[in-house]
Amino acid sequence: MSEAAAKEPIRASEIDPKFKYELSKMHGSEKLLKCFQCGTCTSDCPVARYTDNYRPRQIIRMAQLGLKERVLKSDTLWLCAACFTCTDRCPQDVEVASVIRVLRNLAADRGCFPQVFRDQVGSVLESGYAYKIPELRVKKRETQGLPPLPKGNAESLRKSLKGVKFIENADKKGEQTAK
Ligand code: SF4
Ligand code: SF4
Repeated sequence: MSEAAAKEPIRASEIDPKFKYELSKMHGSEKLLKCFQCGTCTSDCPVARYTDNYRPRQIIRMAQLGLKERVLKSDTLWLCAACFTCTDRCPQDVEVASVIRVLRNLAADRGCFPQVFRDQVGSVLESGYAYKIPELRVKKRETQGLPPLPKGNAESLRKSLKGVKFIENADKKGEQTAK
């Protein structure tokens, strides 16, 4: 969901009143309802320091309000660096970073995640590396007398990704999120 779409006025039909209770039963987001919107998580978040578009407090509020589709399709959900500063600082013991993880997992289950992760999955399945090693770098290693890079174990990674259903989810046609 684009930044502009995320700022559209909220319609009553968008609200899923059960969403917050569903989240409260999931590991990591049990304390979601304790958030009283003090904003400490946002003011301490290193990512929020660099972009006005990312506000963990806002993500928590959207989840509390039951804006399920909006929050799961939000581009900004994927900006969290999982540093856990917010979790350490929250006066209400809301595990903010874990709530974001739960939301990401729900979004990924629907195939809603940035194209960059799909590309990484493709690369991992092909070569065992998260991104294609540029030929130039391979050559540079040779000229400097360095040994070739170890071969990635794509087969083992494929098994792991299958275990968490990531490959199936990557194939789903979820609404495109950020690149
Ligand atoms: S720090 Fe905790 S209570 Fe304050 S807005 Fe963030 S999640 Fe809510
Ligand atoms: S875990 Fe995510 S939301 Fe929390 S402070 Fe770090 S980057 Fe910000």
